[in-house]
Amino acid sequence: MSEKLAIIGSGPAGLTAAIYAARAFLEPLVFVGPEFGGQIAITTEVENYPGFPNGLQGPELTTAMREQAEKFGARIVEETIDQVDLSKRPFKLTSSNGTYEVDSLIIATGASPRRLGVPGEDQFIGRGVSYCATCDGFFFRNKEIIVVGGGDSAFQEGLFLTKFGSRVRIVHRRDEFRAGATLLRRAKDNPKIEFVTNSVIDRIDGNGKVKEVLLRNVKTGEKTTTPVEGVFVFVGHVPNTQLFKGQLAMDHEGYLTVNQHLHTNVPGVFAAGEAHDNWFKQAITSAGFGCMAAMEAEKFLADSQ
Ligand code: NAP
Repeated sequence: MSEKLAIIGSGPAGLTAAIYAARAFLEPLVFVGPEFGGQIAITTEVENYPGFPNGLQGPELTTAMREQAEKFGARIVEETIDQVDLSKRPFKLTSSNGTYEVDSLIIATGASPRRLGVPGEDQFIGRGVSYCATCDGFFFRNKEIIVVGGGDSAFQEGLFLTKFGSRVRIVHRRDEFRAGATLLRRAKDNPKIEFVTNSVIDRIDGNGKVKEVLLRNVKTGEKTTTPVEGVFVFVGHVPNTQLFKGQLAMDHEGYLTVNQHLHTNVPGVFAAGEAHDNWFKQAITSAGFGCMAAMEAEKFLADSQ
């Protein structure tokens, strides 16, 4: 017999969908994916999630959401779905453990860090190149760090990295930042932070681990070889939707196409969070989308009985 609802993804969107769906007695299966909690689980301090005036750590938030979902009957499955067949209902979802049949589906697969795409980047991942300050900052105590990007992530994580590095240089391709005023001010006030604007990394070099980067000023063309040990990249995200290519409508960047009620082009398949949202990208908006998708899935199942 098929399951009523599966949710793929365990970030704020997936877990909020799970809470709502479980409370509607849909007993959702929640496929965790490669890492429980999604992006917020590797974030340090979350200061803007309503209800927590003193802030909290990303993992605390997702752990609490999981507990709440399980309390109401959501079933958390520590598996990654790597194949789907959405051509007819019940939909088929396959992990290394087998195939599940489901009557409805919420896709909350989120997004992953975008890579710079420069020579040396892939080679030195885990050897000086990182996309996660919480995970790797500790390895760069008293070392020179470069943070790439000009958005909130670059600033927030750059500030966090000042706890470890001797100096943190924020390298940004323009001379204006996307980061919000509060983070911008904190970074400007921090004596360990320096700004390298109008600049990009052309190459990352080393010998077993990162030793230097080739910086290029995009205005003057000047190139400088800069010694550095840690390169932390925060240049946005790409949606985790490759699994659905050819089966669901998406835009040229891979964001799923949904209507205002989060229906994809396949009836019974809904999307929630950064798999479709290229604009707000906040834990709270993703949670809101999760709630909406669960309510729509419930309505869809009731109407299709
Ligand atoms: P983002 O806002 O999209 O910023 C990405 C940054 O990377 C931009 O400054 C962009 O430059 C730069 N960039 C993109 N591609 C690049 C490339 N190939 N080479 C060099 N630089 C490149 O991404 P984000 O900072 O991860 O933030 C994502 C969302 O999460 C945002 O909505 C943000 O507000 C939110 N967020 C909020 C908080 C908070 O509120 N505390 C913390 C973290 C994230 P350009 O500016 O030139 O485009």
